[in-house]
Amino acid sequence: MEIKVLGCYGSQLPGYKTTGFLLNGRVLVDAGTVTSVLTIEEQARIDHILITHAHLDHVCEMMFLADNINISAGRNSPITVLSTPGIIRAMKDHLFNDVIWPDFSCIPSIEKPVMAFEPLALEVKHSLGDLSVTAVRVSHSVETVGYIIEFEGGTVIFVGDTGPTERLWEIARGYEDLKAIFIETSFHDSLKNLAALSGHLTPSCLDTELKKLGDHAPDIYLFHMKPMLDLKRIGDSILRISNRNIKILKDGEVIKL
Ligand SMILES: [Zn+2]
Ligand SMILES: [Zn+2]
Repeated sequence: MEIKVLGCYGSQLPGYKTTGFLLNGRVLVDAGTVTSVLTIEEQARIDHILITHAHLDHVCEMMFLADNINISAGRNSPITVLSTPGIIRAMKDHLFNDVIWPDFSCIPSIEKPVMAFEPLALEVKHSLGDLSVTAVRVSHSVETVGYIIEFEGGTVIFVGDTGPTERLWEIARGYEDLKAIFIETSFHDSLKNLAALSGHLTPSCLDTELKKLGDHAPDIYLFHMKPMLDLKRIGDSILRISNRNIKILKDGEVIKL
């Protein structure tokens, strides 16, 4: 499994891009960064997009991806966008609503659209080629899921934007071959009230969350830091979390599992 970090921050500034992870060149987890870093050929190779939630920093470049694929005609089949029915509804009502952006699930035709939306039932395994994917609810300010992705040789979990949560950890503990977890830490501890209000984690919250993993010791990849904050200060607090192999991600990195 190869995971390319297209963007891994909780907002956008020069040198800092919002969330998007490309798995094996074909499956995108969130679409906050896609079109600003991939060539048109690389964009046309994406078959599936898993969306954790409809916040702009996780979906914004999906709009341009649809437009690019439509005009460049690099594909014979639609790119399939998968998420829960509620999250799909939010994207259709508020983004692809023919006001903010065209409804690319009807373009160029209803029979052969650029983009197709496919609802995922929670906690049910869904096959995506050689991967299988399970969506699990987490605890953010809007409906949000994390994705448990099984591949040949292991399991990786992408925790969506979340505050303290339970069910995902309960399920994660059942995976003996858990290789890695991609999880957010948005704010430093002095902003813990804002983190609680907005459904995000601070380093202390992260420490508490990781204890819910029990004896499991997957690699932990951190993302979604707010780039307008003192990132070193967040990083220094992360270093104090013991007994965990934690790495803070950077845009453009490639992780092999
Ligand atoms: Zn976010
Ligand atoms: Zn969010």
